[in-house]
Amino acid sequence: MTDVTVEPTSPIEVNSPCIHCGYNLRGLLSDGICPECSQAIAASLQGDLLRFAEPVWLKRVVFGVWLTLFSYLGIFVIVLVVTALPWAWALGWWVGTVAMVASSLLTVWATFCITAQEPRLSLSEDPVLLRRLVRICAVVSATRKIIDDVGMIPLPQTVRQVIEIAGAFAAVVMMFGLLVYLRRFGRRIPGKKLAGSASTLLWVLPASLLMRLVLSWTVGSVPAFPRVGTASGIAEFLVMIANLFTGIGFIYYLIVLFGFNRALSEALASATGEDFEDLDSV
Ligand SMILES: [Zn+2]
Repeated sequence: MTDVTVEPTSPIEVNSPCIHCGYNLRGLLSDGICPECSQAIAASLQGDLLRFAEPVWLKRVVFGVWLTLFSYLGIFVIVLVVTALPWAWALGWWVGTVAMVASSLLTVWATFCITAQEPRLSLSEDPVLLRRLVRICAVVSATRKIIDDVGMIPLPQTVRQVIEIAGAFAAVVMMFGLLVYLRRFGRRIPGKKLAGSASTLLWVLPASLLMRLVLSWTVGSVPAFPRVGTASGIAEFLVMIANLFTGIGFIYYLIVLFGFNRALSEALASATGEDFEDLDSV
């Protein structure tokens, strides 16, 4: 005996974007194809969980998270290995500088991947918001880091101060924005713990970065910054505490990124692959 009932296909009654191109499928039959991109409509009616998301887009996001980890840890490991080689000594500070510049550039690339526009939102997303802000901040922040790392670019003091301040604040905003993205992904994995961790870091990490920034500014420990206060023992101590908090927050961020890397890769495996035959029975 079988209890499979064949339901008659009825038109989609609510606004549902095609996951591949964003076209609103409302009014179309669920067993048809999207009139814009000719992909099966059924694939777009699974809700917004990442395992049902557009695979090409999701792949880019997963790569972005992996690249973020690589730009922090991979480069660090490479520098350690290279400096252990005898001939590396002859290269002097070049090894470190090239690695730091590469790391900054990879961070920008990673940020663009993580904030890649999801096709299902392409027709409905407000174009100005978070994605653009995060990307601009990534570029500004990386520019400042590269100028600092290379060190010998002749710039007037005022220009240098503007870049320094803009870059430092951009880094804080970028961190906040990326964590907003990660929290959204966490909810769609769905991973309550990952989303919760992103939610915590979202406030703690930018706040500690900001605190460190303002304190360093007051103490005058950032060379290019105009000094607004006088160094005192207490201020120096507070800078140390802020540095410690930022350090711990950053290590936690890396651990959370590893978690996202794994969970998103699993979602991608489902989105690209074998699980797709389930759709036939829907
Ligand atoms: Zn479509």
